[in-house]
Amino acid sequence: MKANLARMDVPLREIRYALATHYHIDHAGLAEELKREGVPLLVLDVQVDAIPIMKTWTKPEDNYVDITDEGNVIISFGQSRQLLSEIGIAGEILHTPGHSDHCVSLLLDDGSAFTGDLPPEAYAFDNPVALVTWRLLRARGANRVYPAHGPIRSIDAAPGS
Ligand SMILES: [Zn+2]
Repeated sequence: MKANLARMDVPLREIRYALATHYHIDHAGLAEELKREGVPLLVLDVQVDAIPIMKTWTKPEDNYVDITDEGNVIISFGQSRQLLSEIGIAGEILHTPGHSDHCVSLLLDDGSAFTGDLPPEAYAFDNPVALVTWRLLRARGANRVYPAHGPIRSIDAAPGS
C-alpha cells in the first residue's frame, strides 16, 4: 500500500481517515498498521461487532495486526455526511448489506459509489438483501460503481462489459 501511495504521490499523512467497507481480511487487514502511522479508522456503528471476529479468520503467517479500539472513530450513518464535509468530501456513507450484514458503501454526491464486495446486481437474483441495497444506491443517485475488486463501471453496465 505504501508503494502504491508513493507512486500516486499521496503522502500517508494526508489521509484523514481509513474506512473499511467491511471487516474481511482483504479489506481491513491493514487498519491497525494504518492507525499506527497516524491514520484514524472510521468505523460505522454497525461494523463495531465485526472487528474482533476478523482475527478468527487469520493464520499466524498472515501477520495480521489485531485492531484495537484506540484511534477508532465510531459514527452513525446519519453523522457521515457532516464528518465527510469537514474533510472536503461531498457524500455520505450508506448501510449496504448483501455481501455481509455490516457492509457499508461510500456514495459521493457525483454518483460515485464505492461498494466493496457487494455482489453485482446482475448476479444477485438469489440475494434479496443485495437487491434491496442496489435499489437504495440507485434511489440515492449512484451512477458509477467502484467495486473493491474492480473494474469501475456504470451502474447500468453488466459486469465484465
Ligand atoms: Zn468480503
